[in-house]
Amino acid sequence: MPRLESSFKSNLLDYLRRNHADMCRHWFDEIEPLDIEGGVVRMLVREPVQLRYLQRCCLRQFTEAAQQVSGRLLAFRFVGTEEEFVAAPQPVQSNGNDPLPRFDEQMLLSPDYTFDTFVVGPGNRLAHAAAVAVADKPGRAYNPYFIHGGVGLGKTHLLQAITQTILRNAPTTRICYLSCGSFTDAFHESVKAGRMSDFRHRFRNVDILVIDDIHFLSKREQSQEEFFHTFNALYQAGRQVVLSSDAAPSDIPDLEERLTSRFNCGLVARVDRPCFETRVSILKTKAKVLGLEVPEDVPAYIAARIDSNIRELEGALTRVRGLAAAMDAPISLELAKAAIAADAGDNRPAGQPNIQNIVEAVTRFYDVKLTDLLSKRRHKSIALPRQICMWLARKHTRFSLEEIGGYFGGRDHTTVMHAIRTIDARCRVDQRLSGDVERLESDLSREPAPQAS
Ligand code: ADP
Ligand code: MG
Repeated sequence: MPRLESSFKSNLLDYLRRNHADMCRHWFDEIEPLDIEGGVVRMLVREPVQLRYLQRCCLRQFTEAAQQVSGRLLAFRFVGTEEEFVAAPQPVQSNGNDPLPRFDEQMLLSPDYTFDTFVVGPGNRLAHAAAVAVADKPGRAYNPYFIHGGVGLGKTHLLQAITQTILRNAPTTRICYLSCGSFTDAFHESVKAGRMSDFRHRFRNVDILVIDDIHFLSKREQSQEEFFHTFNALYQAGRQVVLSSDAAPSDIPDLEERLTSRFNCGLVARVDRPCFETRVSILKTKAKVLGLEVPEDVPAYIAARIDSNIRELEGALTRVRGLAAAMDAPISLELAKAAIAADAGDNRPAGQPNIQNIVEAVTRFYDVKLTDLLSKRRHKSIALPRQICMWLARKHTRFSLEEIGGYFGGRDHTTVMHAIRTIDARCRVDQRLSGDVERLESDLSREPAPQAS
């Protein structure tokens, strides 16, 4: 069969990165072009999860790219290692009257959600460590393992990382990963179709059961009953159960007491909101996964503005990337500011500055560069304005010492404390400095918030 020219793949990836950046991942470089036969390009993908991602989300875009770069009407196929040398398998169709989802349909695993791409910080250290232990020794570390916390804090990511690690270590494990909604749907469909014994056979014979968002069992009495028996069957057989929820077991409303106590009998770990440093490294990791070139000060800027949850952080990064693409410009701090200000507007109460206003006022007043303020440079001309920023940020925003330190060049909270004491002490003896600080403060309280453009 004709091999593919080596330039084909690089042209293909260039095209995709220019036209379908959202979909691209850094591991696309590892996909191997196999051959081209009868107008079909075949590419080999060694990781099953990556293969599924490409097949499910990328086929149309790769086909388009192949046609554009070759100028020919080509079709595209991704193949895994087992089918590399066998004829194209027919896609398996479900026959429509099976109420139970096929196992590989439930496994909507994202190749982005692995332990490698999970950033550990104070808010998720325990949850992460326990997840790693469960993935290494299913059924023997913590059983059940129950993760809870607010939205967008990494619960689904951890569940999928566990699932993917187990599958990689032992590919024949019968592992079932699904959302609580799929479980209850399958249950109701099975009841309707009179197929409860199939349902029980399916769910009670897995080695590992992973259910996301189990709090949706709330108020669903029949599903709770069925889940209780599923749980017991697995638990008694020493099979691993992993669950996630938006609340701790005893805080899930309308959940049977016997389920609450089952959930509490293993390890319950909470994920909390990430601190500033963690947010910065998450943004860097996401940028890497997406293959984005992001200057040092951009993650810090985004992380200082967005502290709600990680999904919001990712959304901000996506907007920055979108704006960069629209303007055909590289990502820069200026661009990030524009993307985020345009979207979030600024809803600070009148007269209450945010960290951005402080930084802007200080850079203007002292004529220093923003990148210097946020850098590790220690030169005196930068050190004083930076200390003033820290002092103002502490006084006028609700950021912690730790967060302020992180924002200004990754410094720790003792540096911020030192800065605050220094400014306080110097203002007492240095009238010029205290006058400058006063002026900055009055500028800040007058200055209107930047308007969304
Ligand atoms: P949840 O299930 O708790 O609502 P997700 O697991 O869906 O949250 O996480 C939301 C997004 O944030 C996902 O894209 C996920 O990859 C990302 N994310 C969450 N926590 C982390 C982390 N610690 N490191 C890297 N990415 C994270
Ligand atoms: Mg989730």
